[in-house]
Amino acid sequence: MTSTSAVPGAAAQAGTTLVAIDGPGGAGKSTVAAELARRLGVARLDTGAMYRALTLAALRRGIGLDDAPALEGLARALRLEVGERVLLDGEDVTEAIRGDDVNGAVSLVAAHPGVRVELVRRQREWVEARGSAVVEGRDIGSVVLPGADLKVYLTADAHERAARRAGERAGAPGPDAASVEAVRAAMELRDRLDSSRGADPLVVAEGAVVVDSTGRGVGEVVEELWGRLVALGKAPARPSARPEASAVEPPRDVDPAPAADPAPAGQEVRPASRAELAFYALCRAVAVGASRLWWPGPVLGAERLPRRGAYVLAPVHRSNVDWLVVARVTRRRLRYVVKEEVWRVRPAGRLAELLGAFPVHRGAADREALARAEAVLAAGEPLVVFPEGTRRSGPVVGDLRAGAAYLALRTGVPVVPVGVSGLERSMPRGARFPRPGRVRVVVGEPIDPGLAPRDARGRPRVARSAVNEMNERIRLGIQAAFDEAEMRG
Ligand code: C5P
Repeated sequence: MTSTSAVPGAAAQAGTTLVAIDGPGGAGKSTVAAELARRLGVARLDTGAMYRALTLAALRRGIGLDDAPALEGLARALRLEVGERVLLDGEDVTEAIRGDDVNGAVSLVAAHPGVRVELVRRQREWVEARGSAVVEGRDIGSVVLPGADLKVYLTADAHERAARRAGERAGAPGPDAASVEAVRAAMELRDRLDSSRGADPLVVAEGAVVVDSTGRGVGEVVEELWGRLVALGKAPARPSARPEASAVEPPRDVDPAPAADPAPAGQEVRPASRAELAFYALCRAVAVGASRLWWPGPVLGAERLPRRGAYVLAPVHRSNVDWLVVARVTRRRLRYVVKEEVWRVRPAGRLAELLGAFPVHRGAADREALARAEAVLAAGEPLVVFPEGTRRSGPVVGDLRAGAAYLALRTGVPVVPVGVSGLERSMPRGARFPRPGRVRVVVGEPIDPGLAPRDARGRPRVARSAVNEMNERIRLGIQAAFDEAEMRG
């Protein structure tokens, strides 16, 4: 076995950031590695996918899983590209390498020392070509990159790991107990093989931090690792909240902000009439009632919502029907900031307006929408803004647009983060019709923006740095609520 010594080039160098993440299956390595790499702006390598692709190739060629010379020859001959997609000799095998046949065979293939020598060589070469990276696997901290800046051994309780894997496979929340048990048995067998093999077994590498993800969301684990990188001087103290030109985006010159000061003519918000409130209540009752039949599930933490006065409700955005489910959290009339495209279909726009929504132009700072939103808050009404701006995918809350933070700082009202789980699975991108399924809504802790400093005329002065800071607090709040919603399943 020659793969146990590190090549010098794989050791950490000044100006680069190398993170090694090892651990058993289902501990969350891939999601955590992907998010950490995204925030660092570096590439990620999933080495498990390399062993899987080799195994698939061996199975297709009928090579015996104990035929070491043939497997080594195949490992050297294969053309393998591992990125967002996995290409084996040019063929996209991203899905095929996750099948049961590969699951059952991969640990046997990966146990051959000669196979490992070749794949470890390729992995180091990949890292050397890039300098900085997040690399995940079983032997990264111990064998492939012992000189990594941060070595992590990510683990979790066996039942939770099995439940996560079973959930991923079923593509739906709440996999049944029998499938969790079946996955757990297969996973434990693979863990045993990986930990007990002679060549590069799964171990906690020297100098690695052990991180237990049981009961914790991706965002929380990534925050912990980020903190460790900051302490090592390998990451900035605060990931940059990149404001994009977007929905409810403050203008660049926010200090002092002229955007909504004074509100342009016609932006004064008069109190809703009784008829308007009754119409809203009726529509809400019908829509919320119907949505509960299709997507049953609880609202948790509704007691955290301020009973009176204004707030910005800031939900995660994973499906086209989020707004409908968000309406479950309160009977009060919610004023939605809605993309202007809705107004292209006249009846839809008219209905949205009757319900109290108003349009925002995406793609530029929309001063009018900002002024209107500010006036709504000043009138004491709750406002719904989706800070992600557009529908996103996956468990991680990424960069936010700055509108919600800006409005909160200008008006001093709290931002209430909301997590919704289950809808992305019910209505994946491209789906024509939503599938029924369980949905959970979690109202998070309100985030108080504090009092913005005032200029000589008493107008709030909102600095870009304050917006960025508030934005990051909102992002963490939404992530926590989203994690809680996903976990309660
Ligand atoms: O991470 P994933 O579950 O996709 O890995 C599949 C298998 O590949 C593991 O069970 C292990 O046998 C093997 N592997 C390995 N060394 C790595 C990564 C994966 O032996 N660095």
